[in-house]
Amino acid sequence: MNRTASSVRLRPGVVAGVDRDGRLHVVFLSSGKHCVYDAGPEALRVVELLGTPRTVTQILDDVGGAHEGFGPELLQEILAALEADDALDFIAPGEQDGETELYRKQISFFRDSAGSHTEALAMQRQVRESRVAVVGAGGLGSWVAQTLAMTGIGHIVIMDPDVVTPGNLPRQAMYYAEDAGLVKAEVLKARIERATDGRSQVTTHARSLTEDFDGDAFATCDLVVNCADEPSVQVTTEWISAACMPYGTPHIVGGGYTGHAGFIGTTIIPGVTGCLTCYRTVHPLDEKYQLEPLAGDRRDSGAFAPMAAVIANLQVWDAIRVLTGIGPPLLADRVGEIDARTLSIDWRAFTRHPACDLCARYTTKGKEEAAWSQTV
Ligand SMILES: [Zn+2]
Repeated sequence: MNRTASSVRLRPGVVAGVDRDGRLHVVFLSSGKHCVYDAGPEALRVVELLGTPRTVTQILDDVGGAHEGFGPELLQEILAALEADDALDFIAPGEQDGETELYRKQISFFRDSAGSHTEALAMQRQVRESRVAVVGAGGLGSWVAQTLAMTGIGHIVIMDPDVVTPGNLPRQAMYYAEDAGLVKAEVLKARIERATDGRSQVTTHARSLTEDFDGDAFATCDLVVNCADEPSVQVTTEWISAACMPYGTPHIVGGGYTGHAGFIGTTIIPGVTGCLTCYRTVHPLDEKYQLEPLAGDRRDSGAFAPMAAVIANLQVWDAIRVLTGIGPPLLADRVGEIDARTLSIDWRAFTRHPACDLCARYTTKGKEEAAWSQTV
């Protein structure tokens, strides 16, 4: 990068201050990292100016005018010390536009894990260029779709045959009372495209997932989130895995919740991680949950909007990790059970199981070019 033409600033989320002895302190708010420098008045003025982006020439003009002897050499020394501690952003001409301004805080969030401002911008661009399918638009899927749109996912595919009912309103996101009787996928499309001013485009499939579902709909997706639980999460996940694995498409089991117990993950990277069938091989479903039904319906279990939102958003965080490569997926090779009464999470680990027929067919890594593969 041409540093002369670039602007430089203190990284967002980094604050600088002076103690009683005149020493400069730089504090990284999210990590708690704290650097202390012996700084002269020129350096303190430079740091003060770095609160907003400026070119080196602008800083030289400002500080040089007030402090005799201040020149390019001392400025480079000050900037090098701050850069070595990763306290600075260098912004190339043209890197700041309306979109980066809109997602300014999210880009700063990415910047905490990215090596540079430019890399953080690339992650946001990756989000915009991603196409994500959400299967099921109910208690989890509606929240997942909403938050994916908020992060700036450019294309969302929503599959759900249901219509909105008044009973959905207490726990499903983005539906209004006036939507009763309308197809959920179409309602979400209208809301998301309006809320994002068209930045997120939505394709709808007003149908349910079935075993014979043509997986081609997922072939063009970068990621699929399964929020469908009919006939069961296990079965819909197996269908989605069968559809995604030939294309190497990562997919996330959207979890679920039954009363106070919430289920988180798993994130499946074809050819790399285990799938839900692998998980069930290691942690079989207890016999008491496999009885021939006689009376009572699992769908009557308690459901609570705060739990739905928490679980859905944990999946979205892993979706963003997979899409941007900001870090390896946190829900790979494990399933969590969160207890709403204590907020404790019981993590159950597993790996690809040699006896899993599905995984055995896909032994090589899927999409080699996928962003996550650079970090795992
Ligand atoms: Zn498997």
